[in-house]
Amino acid sequence: MFKIRKLLALVTGKALIALSRALGGQGTNLPGRLASFIYPPLLSELSRNITGACFMVTGTNGKTTTCNLAAAIIREQGFSIVHNQAGANMLAGITTAFIQNSDLLGQRTHDYALLETDEANVAPLLQIIKPRYILITNFFRDQLDRYGELDITVKLISSAVKGTGIELILNADDPLQSNWPSLTGLKCLYYGFDHTAYDNLDSADSRECRYCMLCGHELEYSYYHYAQLGRFQCPHCGHHNQQLDYVGSELSLEDGIAFKIGDLHLESRLQGFYNAYNILAAATLALESGFGKDIIKRAIASHQPAAGRMENFIIGGKQVFLILVKNPTGFDQSLAMLTGDIHTKNIFMALNDNAADGRDISWIWDTQVELLARSEEKITGLICSGQRSGDMALRFKYAGLDTSKIVIEPYLRKAIERTLGLEGQVTYILCTYTALFACRKILLRLRDR
Ligand SMILES: [Zn+2]
Repeated sequence: MFKIRKLLALVTGKALIALSRALGGQGTNLPGRLASFIYPPLLSELSRNITGACFMVTGTNGKTTTCNLAAAIIREQGFSIVHNQAGANMLAGITTAFIQNSDLLGQRTHDYALLETDEANVAPLLQIIKPRYILITNFFRDQLDRYGELDITVKLISSAVKGTGIELILNADDPLQSNWPSLTGLKCLYYGFDHTAYDNLDSADSRECRYCMLCGHELEYSYYHYAQLGRFQCPHCGHHNQQLDYVGSELSLEDGIAFKIGDLHLESRLQGFYNAYNILAAATLALESGFGKDIIKRAIASHQPAAGRMENFIIGGKQVFLILVKNPTGFDQSLAMLTGDIHTKNIFMALNDNAADGRDISWIWDTQVELLARSEEKITGLICSGQRSGDMALRFKYAGLDTSKIVIEPYLRKAIERTLGLEGQVTYILCTYTALFACRKILLRLRDR
């Protein structure tokens, strides 16, 4: 039966999406929120138009990149997809994605749905949609004031999935996911990396979990890939990494990323170990869902990074990278990549403390900013910007960096212009979430000037 409220919800949602676009905004939550208010069963009904499968992707870091890669594979195969692409990963943002891909009667069908889901939204979303797989990237400390401690996040998700019969695709190198078969009673598939040339035993990365999920004893590691990801075992109860169903091997991080999963050779233009995990996760999801190896290989090879995920601009003939930083592990990974770059570089960091960034900025003290000091001669300047520019400058100072290179300039535009004016060969623009789109706009304007 034709429902007038549903039509009204869809018209309103679509109009708001168009309006927000026209205003150049990223307003991806409001349309979904308002449409659901007008017609509460909207998301549930639209999700029934998916003829193939729904995939849910959650975890702390890498959700957006993993989803973008998986979406590229699905599209490469010629399937249609609903995907909350802009990283609006709360219920409202997911609803907006469905509205955008729907017709006005709410009847258009799609082959797949790929839902990037904020950790706190997994439970409510599971009340509405039952995905074929839930993929988890990793659990790192993120926005403490919003989620509380990590074990609460782990508990939130594991109890939400318990008894659903949904299959899980998990990271075997993350000790926080190692006991999920018994914790959830669900079928769990594991992906992870073999020993790589980049592993270490003594890196002082911010590690989240050094304790056994079963007995609480401190874990022993044979090696770390980075952060708490690696090969571990508990000397007390013997608990260790789950056996790998999909193994990434022969990893190379020189000039992009290359590794193998069995006889599937993957190459990507993305950079850094954290992106290797995102590729491995997306490929695992695709292989498990029956996508062809050639399709996967091609989609990953041609994929370009999205906004703020190492987005690349040429301004004044020089390379500028825009990088979103939101927690200690992500920040450390960016710093590791940056120190691995042999060029001289201008560094900009905007630290905001709005709700979406996390009000508590104490996480900057858990990062390995000291890494920068190792190649300090390659750094022309450290421009600190955003609402908490002073705190960022203080952090750089305590890392032992030359204070004559540290500049505080709270205004983003002035600070970016000042950074680009330095003589480094490459510029890195790092920023927290609420500074990302403003910084991007400034960079685009400077590029087009
Ligand atoms: Zn144990």
